[in-house]
Amino acid sequence: MSNRTFTMIKPDAMKNGHAGAIIDRFIKEGFKIVALKMTKLSPEKAGEFYAIHKERPFYGELVEFMSSGPIIAAILEKANAVATFRTLIGATNPAQAAEGTIRKLYATSVGENAVHGSDSDENAIIEGNFFFSGLERVL
Ligand code: ATP
Ligand code: MG
Repeated sequence: MSNRTFTMIKPDAMKNGHAGAIIDRFIKEGFKIVALKMTKLSPEKAGEFYAIHKERPFYGELVEFMSSGPIIAAILEKANAVATFRTLIGATNPAQAAEGTIRKLYATSVGENAVHGSDSDENAIIEGNFFFSGLERVL
């Protein structure tokens, strides 16, 4: 069990003006911000990030969406970060997300679901390294 996870605020939440409320929620839930940046993924970089889903029918749609506008990427720290953060964001499909979760509040569909959260400690490290150098992190 590790104390770090990686997240992105996705283009839909950025466009809909929810980024501030979502970052505020991370902080209020006790996550410490270790690294944070706004950027825009090229289709190539979005495809690389979600390469694990390459064979899924929604891959093309996912890559197009994730490269459609700016995102905010962050590394967050809290005890049992990966599992605790996945509970905070809620189910992939907002229709199935629990009341009060970030996806229930801000996501619009299974594809445009406001936030990403790493699904394992191993992927949290890989994904954090995808976006951030050592210099860009608070140690
Ligand atoms: P994320 O990895 O973004 O945190 P997740 O782990 O809840 O989400 P995954 O199964 O890893 O869900 O899917 C990655 C992303 O692909 C989803 O967040 C969503 O944006 C998109 N996606 C998943 N399933 C579908 C679907 N059936 N139709 C369209 N897009 C989907
Ligand atoms: Mg996932």
